[in-house]
Amino acid sequence: MITVEEARALLFDLVSPLEAEEVPLADAAGRVLARDVAATRDQPPFAASSMDGYAVKSAEVELHAMFKVIGEAAAGHAFGGLVGAGQAVRIFTGAPVPEGADFVVIQEDVDRKGDLITITDAPGTKDNIRRAGVDFTKGTTISAPCLLRAEDVALLAAMNIPQVPVARKPVVALISTGDELVMPGDEPGPDQIIASNTFGLKALLEGLGAHVRVLPIARDTVASLETAFGLAHGADLVVTIGGASVGDHDLVGDVAQGLGMERAFYKVRMRPGKPLMAGRLGDAAMVGLPGNPVSAMVCGYLFLAPMIRRMLGLDDIVPPLRRARLTAPLAANGPREHYMRATLDENGIAACEDQDSSLLSVLALADALLMRPPDDPARDVGDEVTYLPL
Ligand code: AMP
Ligand code: MG
Repeated sequence: MITVEEARALLFDLVSPLEAEEVPLADAAGRVLARDVAATRDQPPFAASSMDGYAVKSAEVELHAMFKVIGEAAAGHAFGGLVGAGQAVRIFTGAPVPEGADFVVIQEDVDRKGDLITITDAPGTKDNIRRAGVDFTKGTTISAPCLLRAEDVALLAAMNIPQVPVARKPVVALISTGDELVMPGDEPGPDQIIASNTFGLKALLEGLGAHVRVLPIARDTVASLETAFGLAHGADLVVTIGGASVGDHDLVGDVAQGLGMERAFYKVRMRPGKPLMAGRLGDAAMVGLPGNPVSAMVCGYLFLAPMIRRMLGLDDIVPPLRRARLTAPLAANGPREHYMRATLDENGIAACEDQDSSLLSVLALADALLMRPPDDPARDVGDEVTYLPL
């Protein structure tokens, strides 16, 4: 059986970065910038006042100095004239500093009578002027690839980039399999349960920037699975849930292979998630997840998320791991890498009591997957362990 790392390497070979498309700036948040973009202007485009006050010549600024106010500059309304000796222009934040002036005395340091001002408080040496281009200049670039956050979108807007080149969203088709499953909101029979992983995985993958199509539940028959695979046509990644073990009703592997799937691997030396399968199916990558809800979600974090990030063209595709100290002891681990549901607090990390891979209530309470290497010995309170934050 291969390791998690080996499985990941094989999965990455099944996908490649997708092409770019342009989206309006207003839709760019959460997308991945596909090409470097450059500012088309300086910001600010002129020397601007950073305070409300009076624009004067710095050489004349001293306590008790007097000036005659000759006009006004507000944001969006420049003062067209020249500031001469002994003159001042009333100025507001964001207004262009008028020609001839190179200092803004803040209004709190000034006493005004009619159109005469006197500096009544020591004005200090800070000129209260933002130089032209101090934020960025024409040609300043944002480098791709870059996951665009709210603050990046604000910067793109300031740079006057109304259309943004981003990686196309990977299209993922999710196929739940099992005679026992019904959709949330449907009326389950006495021997049925609600399909849950499907929706957890949809949320996870859409949060990463994928477009997820939830297909109708496939029944445990060859015909139903073949229909579902047919509906998945056009997806970049086809993900099945369940039916991946070796029971009489586990048909996913056989059906996928019957449809021409070239298998990359089957089974990973990990817990939960051992019966994971993957390969190429036509133009798509195909991943068969185990059906147990926690197993499916753990495989989503460990394998599907990095595949999505690779398709989006990101550099750091494997989620970074962190270290914390145990606040409760751990028994020795078995021969498989174990991803334990765990909770974090200010003192450290503790594995949840029940690690059964069907327990979504435990997963929902967890903040982290605590990673145990194969054959890791028993651990004590205070020992450092590695975890993946959820
Ligand atoms: P399987 O891998 O098909 O043998 O499924 C393993 C377990 O996971 C069984 O108890 C299934 O009922 C359950 N299961 C499979 N698919 C789903 C799903 N989409 N949502 C919730 N439970 C599921
Ligand atoms: Mg099943």
